[in-house]
Order: sequence, then structure tokens, then C-alpha cells
Amino acid sequence: MKAMRVHPGRRALVCEELEIPEPRDQQLLIQVSACGVCRTDLHVLDGELPDLHLPLTPGHEVVGTVVRAAIPGPFVPGDRVGVPWLAHTCGACSFCRGGQENLCADAQFTGYTCDGGYAEYLIADWRYCLAIPRHYSDIAAAPLLCAGLIGYRAYRAAGEAAALGLYGFGASAHLLAQLACAQHRRVYAFTRPGDVAAQNLARSLGATWAGASCERPPEPLDAAIIFAPLGSLIPQALAACRRGGRVVCAGIHMSDVPAFPYSLLWGERTVTSVANLTRRDGQEFMALASDLVLRPHVETYPLEGANEALERLRGGNVNGCAVLAVAR
Ligand SMILES: [Zn+2]
Ligand SMILES: [Zn+2]
Repeated sequence: MKAMRVHPGRRALVCEELEIPEPRDQQLLIQVSACGVCRTDLHVLDGELPDLHLPLTPGHEVVGTVVRAAIPGPFVPGDRVGVPWLAHTCGACSFCRGGQENLCADAQFTGYTCDGGYAEYLIADWRYCLAIPRHYSDIAAAPLLCAGLIGYRAYRAAGEAAALGLYGFGASAHLLAQLACAQHRRVYAFTRPGDVAAQNLARSLGATWAGASCERPPEPLDAAIIFAPLGSLIPQALAACRRGGRVVCAGIHMSDVPAFPYSLLWGERTVTSVANLTRRDGQEFMALASDLVLRPHVETYPLEGANEALERLRGGNVNGCAVLAVAR
């Protein structure tokens, strides 16, 4: 099978021919149809995450078809299945037992600690896989698996905000904006200065306002979610929030946060992060996606085009999200 892999010292993914992996225990062998391209994949490629063991196949927004299961389980050959970021947890630690398996220290992650979906096949533990609502095509479903559902965890962490700011209007924000507007919230979209395409996309999806991240929105925000990996956005988002407002950092990696005056935090404003996802988040989000029709704005690339997709993402040139169309 073909796979696009990260190798030590290489600045681009390498296209390789590998043996099709063999599933064991609760694993499924899955033929990949589509795999979303996430900013985390760039952090993996750039070596910005700890404990990377290379070579590695990235990709954690995987939609595919079950080829076979090692032992009988709920998924059978021919079933469509989604493989998200959370690949395994220990099940025994205090986090796992307390409903916070996203914080398990022994967790495994698709496309980070185990091979992901930038390949024609992958293996995944069915206990962490998700069924996908029927009305989404494989391509449209792929971004739901990280941009959608980790975005959803951040959205929930932002609370009942009626005025919600989204910093970095990319894959996650453009899906959440649709969810927030469907729930009658006012969305304020913040982009890089001059990113007219992202601002237009935000308005077309129902945002009340779209502007540059350094601008103040026309009303104070109840909460803000930061998707862009820039620590300097934390003080900017705090300054845009009302007293008691909440700033949620949704990314796995951020540049350093600059010093800022305490007055920005004063007034019971809070800053928090969300990390990974639980299986419950996945099920809750898929139930919401099943009731709504989320319309991802997708650029597609062939599997061998993964480097091009990643470089466009790096340059901030993907409007919406990028998806690898691996098999039909
Ligand atoms: Zn655990
Ligand atoms: Zn992701």
C-alpha cells in the first residue's frame, strides 16, 4: 500500500510502499477513502510535538471502509467508519475512570503515536471509532473527525456564550460557526489582517462580523475560542472579552504567550485549553452533526498531494479545510 510518511530530518512527507498492516485484538483493518489535513499534522512534520517516533504516517480525520476485524465486534466488513485522534486509553487511571480519558497519560493518538490515515489502509481499535451520519459524503465527513469534534469540545468549554469570538477562521471555526449560528449565537470571526477570503467565508456562513485579530469586535465577547497557534492572540482575545468572559485555546501547540497586564485577566476572565477528546465528545458531536447539515468548505488533494496541502495550510492559503481523497 501507498503511504505518505514523516521521516527524521526530512521537511516533506515521503511517499512509500508498505505492507498492509495486520489487525489484532479489537483492531479493524480499514481501507481509507478520505483523510482530513489538520494543523497538528504540520506540528508532527515540523517536530514540534514531544515523543515523536519516526517514521510515522500522520492523519487523524480518517473515513474508510472496514475490510476485516481481527475478532468479531460491532463493525463488519463494508461498514463505513471514522477514525479520530483518540486511538487508545489505559482505562484504569483516575482520568479514565473519572470521565476525562482525554487526559490519560498513556493515551495513544492516531497519526501521532500510531500510524494514521495518510495511507491507503490503516488499523484502528473499534472501541475508539465512530459511525458517521449517512448524509455526509466521505470527503465532507473527514473534517468532522477533528476540526469538528475537537472544535466541539472547545465550543462546549466556551459555555453559553451568546457573543462568541473565533480566532483563526479555518477548518474548525468554519464548522463551529455553522453550529453556533444554528443555535442562534452571534459569531465574530477573527482572521489574519487582510485575509479577505476567510472573512468572506465567515460572513457567508452567518457570522455577524468578520475582521482582523487585532481589531475590537463591535460588542464585547462572552467567550472566545483560539484556533490559530499564536500565543499573542491570548491577550488580544482577553481584551475583546467582557468581565467574566472565557478564552479557550483549542490547539495542541502554540507559540509563547507574551507578558500582558493583569488588568486583562482581572474581572474573573478565564483562560483555559482543551486537550484531545473523549469518546463521549465524539458521539455527542456526531449526534449533532446528524441533526444538522454542516457544510464543510473543502479543497481536495490526491494522497500524493499531501505535501502540497500541508504547505498551503502552513501558508494560511486553505479557505475552509483540506482533505486527501484516497480511494473512491
Ligand atoms: Zn488512563
Ligand atoms: Zn486535528
